Amino acid sequence: MSAVQDCLFCKISAGVIPADVVLESDLAIAFRDIDPKAPTHVLVIPKKHFADVTDLMSNDPDLASELLTLATKVAEHEGLATGYRIVTNNGEDSGQSVAHVHFHVLGGRSLSWPPG
Ligand code: AMP
Repeated sequence: MSAVQDCLFCKISAGVIPADVVLESDLAIAFRDIDPKAPTHVLVIPKKHFADVTDLMSNDPDLASELLTLATKVAEHEGLATGYRIVTNNGEDSGQSVAHVHFHVLGGRSLSWPPG
């Protein structure tokens, strides 16, 4: 596993910084967002560092499948039978604040569209 120094999510993945882990696979980990935007708000990240989806798809596109599979398992685990949203921010204009690719899994209430 490559870890980037000072990357918050690399530290969570390595267990250096604690997180409320929901599910985990060999290559990915899902934990609750510290500032939830919905009753269920879980982040799905690869254990290996990629800055964003562009970086991920350029270097390890198969891992995207693993991440989305874990995201759907999170939705099932959280009982989001009436629907949920998977979203990722990519780069400055999107508002991405942590430069380690992650999928937000949001649910547990009716979600407005489009997002702000
Ligand atoms: P983004 O703005 O798309 O990069 O999403 C980053 C997310 O990480 C935000 O929703 C934050 O609330 C969340 N976050 C930041 N620090 C932590 C942490 N230590 N544990 C869990 N979630 C975090």
